[in-house]
Amino acid sequence: MSQLGQLAEQIRGCTLCRLSKGRTLAVPGEGPENARIMFVGEGPGFHEDQQGRPFVGAAGQFLQQLLASINLTRQDVYITNVVKCRPPNNRDPQPDELSTCRPYLDQQIALIQPQMIVTLGRFSMQLAFTGVSISQVHGIPKKVGDIVYLPIFHPAAALHQVRFKAAIEQDILKIRGFWPSYRVLSQLSHRMTKSAHNSSACSNLGGRVSKGKLRIIPLGGLGEIGRNMMVVEYDDSLIVVDAGLMFPNNDMLGIDIVIPDLTYILQRAERLQAVLITHVMRTM
Ligand code: SF4
Repeated sequence: MSQLGQLAEQIRGCTLCRLSKGRTLAVPGEGPENARIMFVGEGPGFHEDQQGRPFVGAAGQFLQQLLASINLTRQDVYITNVVKCRPPNNRDPQPDELSTCRPYLDQQIALIQPQMIVTLGRFSMQLAFTGVSISQVHGIPKKVGDIVYLPIFHPAAALHQVRFKAAIEQDILKIRGFWPSYRVLSQLSHRMTKSAHNSSACSNLGGRVSKGKLRIIPLGGLGEIGRNMMVVEYDDSLIVVDAGLMFPNNDMLGIDIVIPDLTYILQRAERLQAVLITHVMRTM
């Protein structure tokens, strides 16, 4: 069992705070163990408590619609909450419950190593934002260390007030804006991870392969930096992607450096695995 799986088992048996007394099932979270985006909500509701899965009620259906609006599905992201057990009558989690449960979320983040965390509601936004209200900062991303945090209203809020629904629908588009080719890159990352695990270099490590880091590097080449080409790098593998990435800068999700010419490829030509053309100009 993976470390994340072992952690989930630990959460299912946890009795560290009073929320364990009223729960039916603890809800550790679910999604790919190497997900690039995590969604962190508040706590399980009635349906989540019954099924032991996050966001399966009405708010979960809205979350799925939001994901679909940016061409993602639940299977592409990791979904969890700041407290893993349902507060009675869906009341707010209390400060001692939040602090007692927090190490589980910290361990999940450390194991998954996401590049973006979308916080859903005012409790999870405190992962990166303090001293401000969610009304002030929703939809405004903030990079802390290697992770971009995007605070949005909780999907459940949209079920009660239309103005929240419109705000959430707008804010979720920021994911697409920050990482236009997320899905393509995610699939490339999975494939490159698989090939890295199968390589002879891995056997030299006795089968122990540390989790690599996906880097996205916009390049110049046609006079407009990053507009027409970027490199996807995972450990020793490079793929050149012609993705039409617009106006990149170092603060954008997943972008570590911006290089104004093609020297990055030329200096690493022996590591180039593929060139992927994602769009072409058509002449009539
Ligand atoms: S809410 Fe968290 S700390 Fe409290 S019992 Fe559940 S898993 Fe344990």
